[in-house]
Amino acid sequence: MLACRIHARDDLRIEPVATPEAGPGQVLLRLGAGGICGSDLHYYYEGRNGSFVVREPLIPGHEASATVAAIAPGVTRVKVGDKVAVSPSHACGKCDYCREGREHLCRNMRFLGSASLFPHVQGMFQEYFVMGERQCYPVAGDVTLGELAFAEPLAVALHGVNRGPRLLGKSALITGAGTIGCLTVIAARLAGARSITVSDVLDRPLAQARAVGADRAIRADREADALATPQFDVCYEVSGSLAALNTCVAAAKRGGILVQVGTLPHEPLPFVVNELMAKELDLRGAFRWGIEFDWAVDYLSTRRVDVRPLLSGQFPLQDAVKAFALAKDKTQSTKVQVIAA
Ligand SMILES: [Zn+2]
Ligand SMILES: [Zn+2]
Repeated sequence: MLACRIHARDDLRIEPVATPEAGPGQVLLRLGAGGICGSDLHYYYEGRNGSFVVREPLIPGHEASATVAAIAPGVTRVKVGDKVAVSPSHACGKCDYCREGREHLCRNMRFLGSASLFPHVQGMFQEYFVMGERQCYPVAGDVTLGELAFAEPLAVALHGVNRGPRLLGKSALITGAGTIGCLTVIAARLAGARSITVSDVLDRPLAQARAVGADRAIRADREADALATPQFDVCYEVSGSLAALNTCVAAAKRGGILVQVGTLPHEPLPFVVNELMAKELDLRGAFRWGIEFDWAVDYLSTRRVDVRPLLSGQFPLQDAVKAFALAKDKTQSTKVQVIAA
């Protein structure tokens, strides 16, 4: 079988590897679709994602759906042929955070497709992989494997909204209109926001945000004045840009809440904290997700959330280099996926 492996910066290879076998309680999965995320792009084009550096060949991919190819004895949650969303989150279940229900903050987290640990935890851009049954979410109905691979990024967006205030009657700003920004638009609508404004520095993402329900779309670089005055109850910073975070600080009403969802550069950043104080703003982080993954699978499988407008292309695993190139070009794509050929 084939696997996509990043050896170093700009060095992505499609290589034959041994097909794994499922041990007790485990499931052998065949890749359905795997979404290329910002962190995968960082690993490929920079050889690192923030402070996580590629130190051995890394199979990327943490947003995936699959079909069940085989099950080992003891597995009851899925059967052969099932369509599943795969949770890339493997928490220990034993530490203090896990026990208080915040598994995404687990002290011993093993998150798929990440170089945060060494040896790295390999991801899902490979034809077959093995998971514990707990990480497999079977679905019925005609939802496609491509849609199902949105479970992880949708969970990120739902968690970001969950970290903010109740949204009924509230005005929201979302800085960044890529996949997570657009999914945050959808999540904020589900949560009842009165108005949703999105900003970005490219036209295509803004058009996508409008297509999934944003009320206003603003070019942050050309229409900065539109965001210079305090007007939003809550701001979600999903772009990972310091300029956008400063926009949120300026555009939030007094007493407003800012949720940082995007990953900013790892270096210390100059940031004027006094405005947080004087406007009595709350600045909160949102990291990955917890129970929201379960919700995301339900929203997708019933199509209460329809992500089809956000899927820009699918490429067989062999063409992963092309897929990454398209995923990187935000003037051409929102979400790009690799599929098992
Ligand atoms: Zn991701
Ligand atoms: Zn834990």
